[in-house]
Order: sequence, then structure tokens, then C-alpha cells
Amino acid sequence: MIVVMRQGCTDAEIEGVQNAIESKPGITAPIWRGEERSVIGVLGSIYPELQMELEQLPGVVEVLRVSKPYKLAGRDFRPEDTHITVGDVTIGGDEMVVMSGPCSVEGEEMLLDTARMAKKAGARILRGGAFKPRSSPYSFRGMGVDGLKLLAKAREETGLPVVTEVMTAEDVGVVAEYADILQVGARNMQNFILLDEVGKINKPVLLKRGFSNTYEELLLSAEYIMAGGNFDVILCERGIRTFENYTRNTLDISAIPVVKKLSHLPIIADPSHATGKRDKVAPMARASIAAGADGLLVEVHKNPEQALSDGAQSLYPEQFEKLMQELDIIARAVGKTW
Ligand code: PEP
Ligand code: MN
Repeated sequence: MIVVMRQGCTDAEIEGVQNAIESKPGITAPIWRGEERSVIGVLGSIYPELQMELEQLPGVVEVLRVSKPYKLAGRDFRPEDTHITVGDVTIGGDEMVVMSGPCSVEGEEMLLDTARMAKKAGARILRGGAFKPRSSPYSFRGMGVDGLKLLAKAREETGLPVVTEVMTAEDVGVVAEYADILQVGARNMQNFILLDEVGKINKPVLLKRGFSNTYEELLLSAEYIMAGGNFDVILCERGIRTFENYTRNTLDISAIPVVKKLSHLPIIADPSHATGKRDKVAPMARASIAAGADGLLVEVHKNPEQALSDGAQSLYPEQFEKLMQELDIIARAVGKTW
């Protein structure tokens, strides 16, 4: 259920409603202060008379039942698009935000060179994995905290905010110390303990769709984070598993318009992990922006042949520069700038 407050209602009225809801056992009431109206969620074991009780309170316009299982992530709760600001970058608004960098942080020189190149080409956020989920335990699993330190150094030098993956609930604190955006990877989309933990921090979370998960499951995972109080969730379509194995995954471009209709949260696409093949990254990146994605996650490497992970899908710097020029035209055509 959600409580819609009158435009221009007072803080005391909002708090009055929140206190009335939270005085009931097992119910929480997160507040969303929108530009046009404020909305209060009613989450938990709701009883039939509660709706009428809340309708009587000062400042309340209406109390609506939300039929979808995700309450905070859905458009019922917030009809306008959510804008998430990190430094001078806003995700979910008019800007096309490209997050780019190597799959893994491998060393200082390589990371700094890539970060400078990505920035020059128009990337707004630097990506790089320090904790890497790998299918084989013998593969390179990331530099850990040393990798986080290098990302912070690259941010200092370039001014680009940093996104990096957190794999366990225990690591959320240390990753949040260094990163501007915390990534929850596809394999962890339904690691509910991790989702609870990133729900408690005050930094945005990039939530990647699991390769066998539905749109509803993706939005319910976002709901976990939001129910913890962190409303800054960026969704990411990164390809799903299908019978086709020519590409690493199948980029589900439909996810972009469907999820945009169901949810107010920003959604970006990751054509790198979706295709696994360098020469397929640019066409899928272009298609994603044309379909309405708020941005992209693109792997790029100074020397992909030497990459310690995902070299086959990493763009050469000159391919990335060319892609950014192409995206400029497509972004403008669909009303985005960068
Ligand atoms: C990544 O972005 O580095 C990654 C491992 O992606 P995914 O979780 O989508 O496989
Ligand atoms: Mn990768």
C-alpha cells in the first residue's frame, strides 16, 4: 500500500503519517519526497482497516493498494523517473552515462592509462573489478583491496567516479570506503544477505540482472535494497542464458523498455558481458541506447591480448573512441545528451 500526500504538505504531516504506520507491529514506512508529491510506503503485514485509518490523517490525499509484489521499485510508488547523482554525473535523466574501463584492475599504469583514455573519449564513470567472480577458481580473481586503492587513485587523477563489484556482505564496508557506486554482479542478484547489506549504505548500487532471472525478480532484488532505505539503485541488463551459444549471453533488449515502464529506476545495458565478443559490442551498445537505456557498461583495455580477464570482449581504445562518436548521434536522436 502507498500513501500519497498532498502537494505542499508539511514535514510534520509526513512524519505524523509515518509514525502512525510504524506504530503498528511489523510495518515499516519509508518516505519518498518527490518533486511534485511525497509518497509513503506501507510495507509489511497490512490489515484491511489500515487503509481507512490512514485516509483520515492530515495531509493524506489517497491511500492506494499496490498489486505488484515490488512496491518501492514500481511506478505506482513514483511515477517520475528517478535521477541518481554521483559527483557531477546524473544517471536516469537526459544524459547518456557510459561507464567504462577494464574488466579487472590489473595494475596502476594500465588502469590510469585506460581511465585517461576513457575520460577523453567521453566516459563519465570508471569501471574496474577488484573482487572478481570467476567460473574457475584457477582464474585471476582480482587484486582485492589493492585494486580498490588503485581505483581511488585513478579517480583522484581523472575526476571520474568509480564503480566496482562487491561480492560478499562482509566486504560492503571496505568497498564503500573506496567506490562511488557498488556493483552487485549477475551471480549475486539474488544473494539476499548482500542485498540487505547494500540497502544500508548511502551510495548508489548498480544491480545486474542474473542470467536466468525475470524482470520481476530483478525488480524484487531492487526492492530488497530499497526496503533497507537505499533508494539509489541502477539496474543493468547484461544478457541472459538462452539456447544460443554463439555469443556469451543473449542481450535482452526488450528488458530496457519493459523495465522502464514497470519501474522508475534507471536502467543501463552491458553489451560486453552480453556478447563476449569484441566485434559485437558496438552494435549492441548502439541498439541499447536506441531502445532507451540510460547508459552503458563497456569494457575497454589498452592491450586486450594481455588482459587477465575478459580480453575477448574488451574494446581496443580506438574502437571505444569510435563507438562514443556513433553513440553521440543515436543519443541525440532519442533525446539524450552527453
Ligand atoms: C562484471 O561486470 O565485471 C561482471 C562480472 O559482470 P556480470 O556480473 O554481469 O557477469
Ligand atoms: Mn568482465
